[in-house]
Amino acid sequence: MKRKRASKVELAAKRAALSARRVAAHEAALLRGRTKVNAALLKPDNSYSTPDYVLRGYYLDVPFSCKDCGKAEVWRDTQQKWWYETAKGGVWTTATRCRACRRRERERVAEARRVSLEGKAKKKNIK
Ligand SMILES: [Zn+2]
Repeated sequence: MKRKRASKVELAAKRAALSARRVAAHEAALLRGRTKVNAALLKPDNSYSTPDYVLRGYYLDVPFSCKDCGKAEVWRDTQQKWWYETAKGGVWTTATRCRACRRRERERVAEARRVSLEGKAKKKNIK
């Protein structure tokens, strides 16, 4: 009788191990060929919630419309990995502008900064 109970426990342990292996195999299959998230490289964030891509474990292409020109674009999984893990972009930020508008915006901001710094320098010289 005692022996039978032990075997039931063993059976349950075997079942659990098999189930865990199945889950691991399933997860590995899901990640195969995907651009995986390395959460350790993400910019620290104090939010209580976790972005979907972190929970999922891999990045997915995200379609969006440029907020300046309206062009339909796709923010690729590999671009997201670079943005979040290399450029340390905020974990909740997403692409909003197409490539052309992004360049235009970068140039506009750089020009505004230059004009502002020039103005400040002039002001300083007048005093
Ligand atoms: Zn655009």
